[in-house]
Amino acid sequence: MSASSNGRVAPAAFPPPVDSRGEFVKRGLDPEDELIEVGVAIVGGGTAGLACANRLLQLLADDPETMERLGEVPVAVIEKAKTCGGHNLSGAVMRPAPLQELFPEMSREDWRAEGFAFGEVSKEAVYLTPTAKLALRIPTPPSFKNHGNEVVSVSALARYQQQQAEEAGAYILTETAATQLIVQDGTVVGVRSGDKGRGKDGEPLGNFEPGTDIKAQATVLAEGCWGHLTGAAIKEFDLGEGREPQVWELGVKEVWKVPKPLDRLIHTMGPWPLKISRKSGQIGGTWIYPMKNEKTGEDLVSIGFVVELEYADATTSAHDLLQTFKTHPLVRNILAGGERVAWGAKALPGGGYWSMPKLSMPGAVLVGDSGGMVDTMALKGVHHCIRSGMLAAESIYAALKRGETSFASYEQVIEESSVGKELWEVRNARQPLQKGLLLGGPLSGLQQITKGRLPGRAAWHRNDAKPMFIGDTKDVYPKPDGKYTFDKLSSVFITGNATRDDAPNHIRVQKHVPREIAETWRWMCPAGVYEIPEDAPEHGTVDVIVNYTNCVQCGAITAKGGRLTVPEGGDGPLYQIL
Ligand SMILES: Cc1cc2nc3c(=O)[nH]c(=O)nc-3n(C[C@H](O)[C@H](O)[C@H](O)COP(=O)(O)OP(=O)(O)OC[C@H]3O[C@@H](n4cnc5c(N)ncnc54)[C@H](O)[C@@H]3O)c2cc1C
Ligand code: SF4
Repeated sequence: MSASSNGRVAPAAFPPPVDSRGEFVKRGLDPEDELIEVGVAIVGGGTAGLACANRLLQLLADDPETMERLGEVPVAVIEKAKTCGGHNLSGAVMRPAPLQELFPEMSREDWRAEGFAFGEVSKEAVYLTPTAKLALRIPTPPSFKNHGNEVVSVSALARYQQQQAEEAGAYILTETAATQLIVQDGTVVGVRSGDKGRGKDGEPLGNFEPGTDIKAQATVLAEGCWGHLTGAAIKEFDLGEGREPQVWELGVKEVWKVPKPLDRLIHTMGPWPLKISRKSGQIGGTWIYPMKNEKTGEDLVSIGFVVELEYADATTSAHDLLQTFKTHPLVRNILAGGERVAWGAKALPGGGYWSMPKLSMPGAVLVGDSGGMVDTMALKGVHHCIRSGMLAAESIYAALKRGETSFASYEQVIEESSVGKELWEVRNARQPLQKGLLLGGPLSGLQQITKGRLPGRAAWHRNDAKPMFIGDTKDVYPKPDGKYTFDKLSSVFITGNATRDDAPNHIRVQKHVPREIAETWRWMCPAGVYEIPEDAPEHGTVDVIVNYTNCVQCGAITAKGGRLTVPEGGDGPLYQIL
């Protein structure tokens, strides 16, 4: 396509140059003397993967015979960040039960003393923001009821879970990306770790280290939202057959140190600063959560903006919407005199029950966000991640104990668990909003009130199939003042992003695309990765510059026509408290 008229091009017409099965599935293992052998390989040291590791080691601790059968390394976790937690971000108000069951000897006071939990929710308020100045408190809708939940940091929680897993005997390979799924005779038999020390064009540099096959009796894909190997597995084993397509949301979050403690948890549901007409298609909301750090005594606030990636206005930017939101008096009063201490961005799967792929394949299972286990009506996934990690551990342990390699029972276990039940109740609640908040809002409300008793299966359509137009959402974004509002690059700077300047490009996009597509990527990317040259034509096709070393691996590009593949292990942000 050489030219376009505004509003007619969908990102799906410009698919990324990727052959998932060809590139990311390795057929067969290297010779025995060239590989590492482990019992269970867990890809991803986030909340879900580490819950799986910890539960497995609890079960194995009482069963030396099965432990012995898993070999010298019974449980290995492969994590691409510098340390577990480095790439994890969440709101994160957590339903506490699964974590309490995982570590039953710990109290919630212990969680806070460990520095990953910041207090129980006792007061909450939900507002509509009709304008840039007005906030109207409304009765708390059922999905926003958080009384009794705990505010946590998933990056700090992952660091704690890593420490527990290591003490119990897990082998945690940080700074290691799993780049290929190894399939032999129709069964997943492990993963391959990525090469390190390649240059921009893939050439080996002086410090080059080749990757290694990691052979496993069971493989757990716990890669979070948009998993690289998960995507390959879905294609290889047809795990999406008969399901709805996955859809995505993007959240940008900041943590602020504030002089005055916030006494309640706040959600706002717009419409300001979103454009909720069907044409612009923006659906989103915000959170402001109090965080009392009992280790340091500091009063912190978690603040974030989430937007569905179903919008049509190419100038939608979750980062800039958050900056805009902070100019509202409701927010400005909370942040007044404070200081921003952290920033980050991450996408989450929003399709819910109908978009969950089949969760098992020969030799492997999916847990947490890799399996799409998020209730985006309530913005809740952490407890499902922990629960699914534990249930995967129990299914794998039982199968390996019996000497079997089929983990198919896990699928049914999830269906019957709180994960399956909670996601079933809201299975049709979000889809009506794809018609816009005004048209879809009432039906969505009815679905929630009836807790899924209305029959039927509401369809999703893919985010990248939405035609994009260059609108004027951008006109509301404030000019960054460096105190309350910030640009993208200074935000990326405080993530501690450590991607080498001469690393190979891990972002796959077509670089010669209509301006609508280029603008979509430019505005959407919270890290400012995509640039359009100043002298590019106003209409028609433009060349996109990809500054991939800024990437914070949020995954959003995969929803809107590109593909995030795994970069070299150790690259990317180093989140501490997100
Ligand atoms: C903005 C936002 C707000 C949210 N708010 C809430 C909330 O308030 N409450 C709530 O309950 N839930 C919330 N959620 C959802 C919740 O955070 C997620 O469901 C949960 O954190 C996902 O955990 P996970 O372990 O599945 O994935 P992740 O936390 O994403 O962990 C995956 C890990 O795998 C690693 N990895 C991925 N691929 C590879 C690979 N190939 N090789 C090596 N390592 C790899 C990653 O680096 C990462 O560490 C929110 C999510 C977002 C994005
Ligand atoms: S380039 Fe990286 S940070 Fe930007 S949208 Fe894509 S995955 Fe997210």
